[in-house]
Amino acid sequence: MFTAFHRRLLAVVVSFLAFAAFPTLTSANHSWGNYHWGRTTNPFTVNLGDNVSLVWDGYLGEASSDWSISSALDTTIVDGGAGNPRRCRATTGRVEVCNTTYGNNGWLGVASIWVSGSHITKGSVKVNDTYFNTPAYNTPAWRRLVMCQEIGHTFGLDHQDENFSNGNLGTCMDYTSNPVGPLSNEHPNNHDYQQLELIYAHLDNTTTVGQVTAGAKAPPAMDEIDFAGPAQWGRLIRSTHQGRTELYELDFGGGHKVFTFVIWAEGEERGRRGDGGK
Ligand SMILES: [Zn+2]
Ligand SMILES: [Zn+2]
Repeated sequence: MFTAFHRRLLAVVVSFLAFAAFPTLTSANHSWGNYHWGRTTNPFTVNLGDNVSLVWDGYLGEASSDWSISSALDTTIVDGGAGNPRRCRATTGRVEVCNTTYGNNGWLGVASIWVSGSHITKGSVKVNDTYFNTPAYNTPAWRRLVMCQEIGHTFGLDHQDENFSNGNLGTCMDYTSNPVGPLSNEHPNNHDYQQLELIYAHLDNTTTVGQVTAGAKAPPAMDEIDFAGPAQWGRLIRSTHQGRTELYELDFGGGHKVFTFVIWAEGEERGRRGDGGK
């Protein structure tokens, strides 16, 4: 028998579930597993290795300035140490940023983050000129969004939203089919800066940012991978919107992992459509 009491109880349960399901609306919570750079003081500086060509220099500079607005961290552009941008070998203690024509592999950009325990030890960002050389993506807005978002991942930030079709939130950590707007998704927003403050509110006993050796004896194999495509990225741990946004994990044991965030070009989801992603 469904009494008025039950109806009231149901209403309470439903409103509780609604509250629990949408905390994103009111609080910053788009980190991904509490991974962060180890540091003993705040704010700290992340060096961004410049391995990009002239056409990308301005966008790297903009992303660097944008993220440095954060009270938690600063970024400095330094000479690249990645060697061949196709390989874009990561350097301990910093983030290497690379571009080249990586081919018709489907992805616009990838960010890979090496972690030891909860600490990020190095990162790399690659943007794929094979797509950025095409009219669809050869726009300042798309270049800004992808550069800004992939660098944001290397600080421990996740996406704020992964729906390409809804309205823009005004942050590069929000997927969109139209970065320009009405609300522009070409730069971080206050929510991103708040999230960085949360991630970096505590101090650590050890430092990973700016270090030249990985502290906790990372397996040598972690340095030997060429992250050209899904076959090298490990296990798919998250896929949304028909596979257009994906997160992969390569687990080396002992808390040593490499995470790779991928943004696929529209229509290039490699047959993932209908695979249960939503
Ligand atoms: Zn920590
Ligand atoms: Zn992303």
